[in-house]
Amino acid sequence: MGDEREADVAIVGAGLAGLAAARRARAAGAGVVVLEARDRVGGRLLNEPLGDGDKVVEVGGQWVGPTQHRMLALAREVGVETFPTYDEGENVIEWEGRLLRYRGAIPRISAGVLLDVAQAQRRLDRLARTVPLEAPWEAPGARALDGQTAATWLRRNVVSARARTLFEIGIEAVWAQEPADLSLLHVLFYAHSAGGFDALFDTAGGAQESRFVGGSQRVALQAAEPLKDDIALQAPVRRIEHGDKGVVVHAEGVTARARRAIVALPPALAARIAYDPPLPGYRDQLTQRMAQGTVTKCMAVYDEPFWRAQGLTGQATSVRGPVRLTFDNSPPDGSPGVLLGFLEGRFARELGRLGADARREAVVGTFARLFGPRAARPERYLERQWAEEEWTRGCYGCAMPTGAWTGFGPALRAPVGPIGWAGAETATVWSGYMDGAVQSGERAAAEALAALA
Ligand SMILES: Cc1cc2nc3c(=O)[nH]c(=O)nc-3n(C[C@H](O)[C@H](O)[C@H](O)COP(=O)(O)OP(=O)(O)OC[C@H]3O[C@@H](n4cnc5c(N)ncnc54)[C@H](O)[C@@H]3O)c2cc1C
Repeated sequence: MGDEREADVAIVGAGLAGLAAARRARAAGAGVVVLEARDRVGGRLLNEPLGDGDKVVEVGGQWVGPTQHRMLALAREVGVETFPTYDEGENVIEWEGRLLRYRGAIPRISAGVLLDVAQAQRRLDRLARTVPLEAPWEAPGARALDGQTAATWLRRNVVSARARTLFEIGIEAVWAQEPADLSLLHVLFYAHSAGGFDALFDTAGGAQESRFVGGSQRVALQAAEPLKDDIALQAPVRRIEHGDKGVVVHAEGVTARARRAIVALPPALAARIAYDPPLPGYRDQLTQRMAQGTVTKCMAVYDEPFWRAQGLTGQATSVRGPVRLTFDNSPPDGSPGVLLGFLEGRFARELGRLGADARREAVVGTFARLFGPRAARPERYLERQWAEEEWTRGCYGCAMPTGAWTGFGPALRAPVGPIGWAGAETATVWSGYMDGAVQSGERAAAEALAALA
């Protein structure tokens, strides 16, 4: 006979959202059981040892920034400190076949292009502020905003093709999808939920400002520590029976009976569980639309961060790609040197279909163009293709295509009987981010506790 558990709340998924939900429910005195498919906690957070003492790099989510209060509070609570992302010196942009160095957020490219970008961003920020975070479908003109892609808006509102390319790189960097994949309303909602486009794009003062000492997964590992007897690993949930009396959650090797369930998964994966009785069509049709982005996070390891001696931050933007954004991802003491590059959206899709050697060559080749021949000879190369991960199936998160928010938005968080929904994608603040994951877990736990009271 398999493992049989009973609890007040059964939680599916031990990413940050599931763990935050479990901690909140437990703190209020509820009994919890957490069912996790992988053999580890953390989900989209994963440390990879660098082979030098306990040094690590993250192959999943990593940065934290100002206004991400919930994630910072959780990290503080579990004793994980932050350190600043390396940001000293000049950035590089590969622009029309040339390498240009610049300080701060704005590259020294044609003034006309910069003006075009600034005007469009101002308009987007203004529009974003009109989107209610709890109900994007109620934004003024929601149907028109949701009836066009970000690509359509850019074609109509950004004069120069070069300025549109910069937006394309920005959109790939935030969503790992292409402007044509995304509803404009979703882009506006997301920017508003982060506090504006600068907050999404920036290192200093933005979402890329800081990192966690010992790697972001440590936050999840430490958060899970007091719950460890209540977490079942390698227990993928396949079916949830639900009704007036509560839920029976059938995972491989474990059956959990509880009064409430919280499904803390990316929506596309929540839809792969069988529900008995089946979920309302309105909910299922929402999750049919919420596709995960495509990203491969790639890192090259060197004996030292040699670009620092050349006065470079390690942050580069390349219009040509396939790596379009890089960062210095070295440990806090700067040893070894780690260059991080992202393959995002169409570049991740195209290179994802090639072999690992071809991918490495393309990535390291871009590093060498941006940082010189020394970058061509890393001691080690590592990458993680998140679309290949059975229990994630794409990152950073998901994005709404046209018509999804206005057609199905209210189904995103509405509980179905005793089942509530969490996960970074259900957040209203810093949606899609670690901070949003924590918010969503705490919100879903509060809903469950209110129903149990
Ligand atoms: C490459 C990359 C870079 C990122 N960069 C950043 C960043 O710098 N800053 C930031 O804030 N965010 C970043 N993110 C996003 C961030 O990692 C996520 O928003 C956050 O970790 C999501 O947490 P979650 O708990 O909602 O979901 P997840 O972490 O996906 O947790 C879901 C859990 O459910 C499990 N699961 C799935 N299916 C089942 C099933 N059927 N039964 C049981 N368990 C199941 C999974 O194994 C997983 O553990 C990044 C993500 C990636 C991949």
